[in-house]
Amino acid sequence: MAEILFVGTGEAFDPRLPNTSLLYRGALTLLLDCGYSVPHALWSVMQDPDLLDAVVVSHGHADHCFGLPALCAWMREHGRTRPLRVLGGTGVRDWLDRLLELGYPGVCKPDRCFPIEAIELVAERTTELESVSLRVAATSHSVPNLAVRVEESDGVLCYSGDGAPNASTAQLYRGASVLVHECCHVEAVRGGHATLGDVLRVAEAARVDRTYLVHVASDDRATLESVLASQARRRPVFVPRTGERVVI
Ligand SMILES: [Zn+2]
Repeated sequence: MAEILFVGTGEAFDPRLPNTSLLYRGALTLLLDCGYSVPHALWSVMQDPDLLDAVVVSHGHADHCFGLPALCAWMREHGRTRPLRVLGGTGVRDWLDRLLELGYPGVCKPDRCFPIEAIELVAERTTELESVSLRVAATSHSVPNLAVRVEESDGVLCYSGDGAPNASTAQLYRGASVLVHECCHVEAVRGGHATLGDVLRVAEAARVDRTYLVHVASDDRATLESVLASQARRRPVFVPRTGERVVI
C-alpha cells in the first residue's frame, strides 16, 4: 500500500516549516520536490542514502529544487552507488547539471558520483518508472510548473507543485485518491498561486477523495484552519502537519 510522508509543508519563506516536499513510498520511493530546507528535514526521518529511486521536481524555484546539491552530495558521501533519476520539465538535464555544479563543484560529476539520470516530463505523455506511471500538466504559475499524477495499482496521488489550477490540472487530478495542493492564500493576494476557493473547486470537479493543503502563507495559516473548521464538506480537506504520514 502506497503512502506519503510530508517532509515539509511550508511556503518559501516560512520561518518555522521546511519547504513543501513529499516522500512517496509505494512500488518505488520518490521525493516530490527538494527545496533548500528539505534535505535536513528528510535526514531527520531517513538515513538511507539508497532509499530514493527518483526525485521529481515541479519547477525551478529555489524552494522546490535548491536542496538537490546537498542531497546528492550527502548520498555520495554515504556510499550510494546505484543510479538516481531526477525528473523535471523542459531542460532538466541542463539546469540540473548547472545546479549541482554551483552547489558542490565537481562532486556530482559522472566520474566521481553515482549515476544521476535526468528525465524530461512532458504534458500529455505518460512516463513509466517500472510499475509506477507519472503524468504531468502545467499549472498557472509565474514560471513553468508541472503538477504530477503518480499512479500505481492501489492508488493515485496528485501533487500540484506551485500554481493555480486550470482545465489541464483538473483533468490530471480526475479521480485521485489523494490530492496535495498548494494553497498559498485563503483569498487571492497575488497571481500565480491557488486560493482556498480554487482548490476546493478543482477537488470537487475532479472528484478527488481527499485533499491536503500545503505551501500556505505563514500569516494565512490560522485563518485557513478556522475557515476549514467552520465548514462541513462532502470531500474531506486537511492541512497536514510536517512529518505526518498519509496512506494513499
Ligand atoms: Zn514557485
